[in-house]
Amino acid sequence: MSWRPTFGTNGVRGIANEELTPEIALKLCLSLGTLHGGDIAIGRDTRVSGEMLKNAAVSGLLATGNKVIDLGIAPSSAIQYYVKHNADAGVIVTASHNPKEYNGLKFIDDAGMEFSRDGEKEVEKVYNKGEFKRVKWSRTGELTAADAVPGYKEGIIKLIDVENIRGKKFKVVVDPGNGAGCGVTSSLLRELGCEVIEINAEPDGTFPGRPPEPTADVLGGLMATVKKSGADFGVAHDGDADRAVFVDERGKFVSEDVLLAIFAKSALERKKGIIVTPVSSSSCVADVVEREGGKIVWTPVGSIHVARKMLELDAVFGGEGNGGLIFPEHQYCRDGGVAAAKMLKMLCAGKTLSQLADEIPRYYHIKEKLRVEDKNDVMQKVKNIARGKVDTTDGVKLWYDDGWVLVRASGTEPIIRIFAESKSQKRSKELLQEGVELVKRVSG
Ligand code: MG
Repeated sequence: MSWRPTFGTNGVRGIANEELTPEIALKLCLSLGTLHGGDIAIGRDTRVSGEMLKNAAVSGLLATGNKVIDLGIAPSSAIQYYVKHNADAGVIVTASHNPKEYNGLKFIDDAGMEFSRDGEKEVEKVYNKGEFKRVKWSRTGELTAADAVPGYKEGIIKLIDVENIRGKKFKVVVDPGNGAGCGVTSSLLRELGCEVIEINAEPDGTFPGRPPEPTADVLGGLMATVKKSGADFGVAHDGDADRAVFVDERGKFVSEDVLLAIFAKSALERKKGIIVTPVSSSSCVADVVEREGGKIVWTPVGSIHVARKMLELDAVFGGEGNGGLIFPEHQYCRDGGVAAAKMLKMLCAGKTLSQLADEIPRYYHIKEKLRVEDKNDVMQKVKNIARGKVDTTDGVKLWYDDGWVLVRASGTEPIIRIFAESKSQKRSKELLQEGVELVKRVSG
């Protein structure tokens, strides 16, 4: 077995039954079960390989004496909410937005949050040693089933002014992309009085409607349906429905950075405080936060860093520039369902989504990637020669009066990614070029 599972920014990921095999899922869950005892919930997205990996994972958890609650197919956000309220730990079998051949395992702690890096390291240690707890035959665990979705929806409905929203009778198009959000966001919105039109709404792990990652270029169906139906907006999720992206009432995709800024603004209008986002996010978020009298705190890339920093600082909102939005009043993880409900709440004030988007400052955000031999060596050297206003929260970010450039190593591939942003296309290109030259200078 040459492929070894390593925890990246999203748990363990690999091509199912080739890299991430049932044997590996079993061993990972024997490791988890050795370290964490009690009631462990498990759920998955719609991937074809999900049932195979879930059953192997369940075996590992039972063999170590745990009680396992099978939540079936459910959004990651709903599984995390269930764990927070009803279990001691959780396992999610998902590869989130990755292509259909991939799958993954993600571990959840008793607060419903993704494992910290330290928590993952402990699991890795037990995995590599191969010394698992084995309970006596009479103590092997029992398996039950539960539905995580009703409690999750109830929690969301409690957060918002339901009567006001119901009175508006919004029309919404929902595109769960054949993933774990099928039937969840649509029924939530119907309970909130919306007329809902669904596309790609059959759970199907071959993802026939569109790829699991909800990028603008694959959401043509959603844009067209919003336009044709005269809906107030469209919402799309990734494969495990913890991310949400939106299409405005004109059928236009709202960039994820603008979306982040819109939600940050709305959170600060309600309560002044801290907004947390990764260093790769657009300055439009920082601009809005400053304008609204809040404070922005930057983290390394990865939703777990954002969530943990939010908890530590009691932030009012946080998220990533990819539709991963975290609402602390519900839970400290990305939450596609809450995002959809909160969008309704924002629109209750009378502005359309395109009007809300137009209020956000525009930046030109461009990126490039370079293949290198040793990404860590390259990053060390870039750090050594970088001059000026340097931020090393994640990689090297160089700030200028009129923009920034970020150079960082990919978490999974031998690649250096370079991001640049400013208010003019020409300046963004110059900044990007500067980053490219910095990498070339030290990797040549
Ligand atoms: Mg996801």
